[in-house]
Amino acid sequence: MNHQIFPKVQLGFFPTPVVELKNLSRLLGGPQIFMKRDDLSGLALGGNKTRKLEFILADALAQGCDSIITAGAVQSNHCRQTAAAAAKLSLDCHLVLGGEQPDTHTGNLLLDRLLGAQIHWAGGNRKGQDIPRIFEQLRAQDKKPYIVPYGGSNQLGALSFIHALDELNGQSESQSFSHIVFASSSGGTQAGLVLGKQISGQDYQIIGINIDKDSPGQTGYRQNLLNLIQQTAQLIGENTDFMPQDLILIDDYIGQGYAVIGDLEREAITLTAQYEGILLDPVYTGRAMGGLIDMIRNDKFSLHDKVLFWHTGGAPALFAYAEQLNLS
Ligand SMILES: *Cc1c(COP(=O)(O)O)cnc(C)c1O
Repeated sequence: MNHQIFPKVQLGFFPTPVVELKNLSRLLGGPQIFMKRDDLSGLALGGNKTRKLEFILADALAQGCDSIITAGAVQSNHCRQTAAAAAKLSLDCHLVLGGEQPDTHTGNLLLDRLLGAQIHWAGGNRKGQDIPRIFEQLRAQDKKPYIVPYGGSNQLGALSFIHALDELNGQSESQSFSHIVFASSSGGTQAGLVLGKQISGQDYQIIGINIDKDSPGQTGYRQNLLNLIQQTAQLIGENTDFMPQDLILIDDYIGQGYAVIGDLEREAITLTAQYEGILLDPVYTGRAMGGLIDMIRNDKFSLHDKVLFWHTGGAPALFAYAEQLNLS
């Protein structure tokens, strides 16, 4: 199949495990719940960006680049994994982070610095609006910079999740999932899973929980996702008859907006920690699991369903949200 011919560099350890969350299922009186542990992808505390970077940075190396530029929020997991990958591949790493330099460096920001990344503070521009300026600065210094897009969500990033679905399909625990639920934000994960499902002929429902109401670019997130699905299909020479109405992107759990933690996230993080011993993150997986728990309570699944929650990582950010977790 065409998606298998793309070069990649090894950055993580795959396959990531699939585990069953029996205590949580029992507590909720709901369907069987499984979890794909991409938080254990192995690169500097893990996460879903490791998969994307294996393909994207192979392209950077093939082009002879010596520096990486990417962007994100101050607690970006994508930036932390990019910094780690750049360290391993002996590339300079420039991170363009939203906001102003804080007084204390914790969570992912601490790790970015430990991993040797150079940090550029971008004020309100957390989605990479300042990248072109830094790109030109590096060029003027005779560097060969390579831009990794926001969230690693270009065609190569999405391609990695076609591979991830192949990986899941090959795991013995994964015979008959009915639904795959995950946090969706820059789109690479969802676009890859949607195409992977089509290519492998599985009939999972692919359910993205939207965690951010401001999407990058001029068009809405839904349209960005549809574009990325089309572009990725083109990259691998697949025809896709994917229809906009088949995209399942749930906007019900955005709450007070990106990275604002509320009761939904607090409960999901606490239950998953205390019933399963598994750490979710405050921004993405806490919100997506909160959505899944709410859907189970509202009988959106039957007792015969087998629901896979794709754990996309992010727990290092917990330390930056210590106060907002309200632990008594
Ligand atoms: C980036 C990220 C996501 C979202 O994945 P996209 O491919 O950007 O949609 C989900 N969870 C975590 C922890 C992330 O860091």
